[in-house]
Amino acid sequence: MTAPARPTPVHAPLPPFPIRDGELVVGGEKLSVLAARVGQTPFYAYDRGLLRARVAELRAALPSSVKLHYAMKANPMPAVVGLMAGLVDGIDVASAGELKVALDAGADPREVSFAGPGKREAELRQAVAARVLVNLESMREVALLKKISAELGLPARVAVRVNPDFELKGSGMKMGGGPKQFGVDVEAMPEVLAAIGAAGLAFEGFHLFAGSQNLRPESICEAQQKSYALAVRLAAYAPSPVRFLNLGGGFGIPYFPGEQRLDLAPIGDNLAALAAQAKTELPGAEFVIELGRYLVGEAGVYVARVVDRKLSRGQVFLVTDGGLHHHLSASGNFGQVVRKNYPVMVGTQAESSARESASVVGPLCTPLDLLADRMDLAVAQEGDLVVIFQSGAYGASASPHGFLGHPACVEVLA
Ligand SMILES: *Cc1c(COP(=O)(O)O)cnc(C)c1O
Repeated sequence: MTAPARPTPVHAPLPPFPIRDGELVVGGEKLSVLAARVGQTPFYAYDRGLLRARVAELRAALPSSVKLHYAMKANPMPAVVGLMAGLVDGIDVASAGELKVALDAGADPREVSFAGPGKREAELRQAVAARVLVNLESMREVALLKKISAELGLPARVAVRVNPDFELKGSGMKMGGGPKQFGVDVEAMPEVLAAIGAAGLAFEGFHLFAGSQNLRPESICEAQQKSYALAVRLAAYAPSPVRFLNLGGGFGIPYFPGEQRLDLAPIGDNLAALAAQAKTELPGAEFVIELGRYLVGEAGVYVARVVDRKLSRGQVFLVTDGGLHHHLSASGNFGQVVRKNYPVMVGTQAESSARESASVVGPLCTPLDLLADRMDLAVAQEGDLVVIFQSGAYGASASPHGFLGHPACVEVLA
């Protein structure tokens, strides 16, 4: 006799949205009422209470000396950036467009940093004029910043983004180690640091970002230790003392069956140990952690209405007014190798015991427009609202809205 197979969990752990009168509650409002207040489906809703709670939870787990930055490419909705600007210590931007949103939101320019490959001269000028920190990524940027600093009479504030000689193991997306378009290779750092000194730029520190969407604390701790050791090594070549060290982030959230929430405790302990070491090895340097997805991903839902219920050769299809044109990631077409289901719920039948296997699809004329593939869901009818969880990051702004010419979605902070 063989041991019974462990049942596969049907979905990742759900974020703590309450249920009232058989409906999911988002931003304190029942889903059907929230939909009425938004005035249309599909929409994204981001829950302020959950955003606040997430930042508080993180603050409690990390040493108080570590600064927390929001990488706004995860969710650039101006109202979200405005809320986050008041909760975290700084905002990380990746374009002049994002810089504008961050400054409009009231972010303190001293705590805004600008990273990304291929920054255009006009973008660099905007950043220097705004007095934000530029995480420079090539020798070309050193030369341009020297020229711009002279033109504006403002020395550019710079850190160097380093392409490390290691990667973040087990990441959904690797962004450092090996040949990369991001940052300056470790081998080239002495030359670039000397050029920064010669150009008279205001050197402030190092930026290391090794990868994204990691659920393994031991891998994150290892990358932080290696980043720290590398920064100590590189500090010997720096034109002035290191004032801060951005250790990246990469904290993941559970999306798929079998995935668990990241345990923050070992990461907090690790950062505390590194901060203690830095007191003697990098005196005066502050640590920064930059997070996008981890801060906002679980606080957001995407909501679409069932337009048609079809049965095809025994399989139920819930055809909704939302799809991959608004939510590319949930369809599995934004960096996934094997398509898996995001957590999904029929939000207007949250307590119904009548369940069935159903696929949730969108209105696009392509089989890629799949939001849930044969999932166990409450039985839904035309008019019911389907909710895709874990949608607060890389949702609306990371989707091809123009594809097939369907109406736009709306985003609300609830
Ligand atoms: C995308 C990005 C982030 C945010 O990554 P998340 O996985 O959303 O936390 C942080 N820093 C840099 C440099 C990035 O490019």
